[in-house]
Amino acid sequence: MQRTKIEYAELAWNPIKGLCPVACSYCYARRLYHRFNLVDKDPYLDEKELGAPLKRRKPARIFACTTIEPFELSVINYMKHVFDVMRCCSQHTFLLLTKIPGNFKDFLKETPGNVWLGTTITRQNEVDRAYRLREIPGPAVRWISFEPLLEPVWKIDLKGIDWVVMGRLTGGRGTGPAKPRWFEELIEIADGYGVPVFMKNNLKALPDLRRKMRQTYPTPNFGTLARFVRSRCR
Ligand code: SF4
Repeated sequence: MQRTKIEYAELAWNPIKGLCPVACSYCYARRLYHRFNLVDKDPYLDEKELGAPLKRRKPARIFACTTIEPFELSVINYMKHVFDVMRCCSQHTFLLLTKIPGNFKDFLKETPGNVWLGTTITRQNEVDRAYRLREIPGPAVRWISFEPLLEPVWKIDLKGIDWVVMGRLTGGRGTGPAKPRWFEELIEIADGYGVPVFMKNNLKALPDLRRKMRQTYPTPNFGTLARFVRSRCR
């Protein structure tokens, strides 16, 4: 585990290593694999790294699987082991992000109750991921990461969604064509549903958004958390 620059997490934990098969054009992790000539590495479970959260007693918000898609078919079976460790670490909160929430139900039963499970949406034709996310049982928080937002998303049902994160394409991934209006529209939609919004710092570069910045966190589902704690106390 190591410290992360992801603003809403403290640590990154990557117990599944290897080149992510999803191959998003903007992926920083794939670029690193190419730079270090590790492109022949198929996904595998790093058993030493798997136990890392168990060694840390102090509670932390840990982003898991930041360099690979956790529900891709060649990866998802390893997630059973990752979930087992998460269940044993009730002191921590684990964030997890997927682009393929629809794969979950064929391979896994439910997430541990200390998981904040999110899906990435970068354009309008991906909004069905929010509906698949709602069908997954277990997480204390269901959230959507609109990062990098590549096109306007003007219509999305946020019922059952607890948190929205948004950001633009930045850094080595190019500056991207993001327009302030895309984010303002999403904020209006989130406000309409009463969903808290976390705007990444990279949005401060868009002058129209600078004064509208907010970084709000969700309230975890206490019923889910209580069930999780009770199940661990038996
Ligand atoms: S799913 Fe995530 S880790 Fe995989 S290629 Fe896309 S951005 Fe990279």
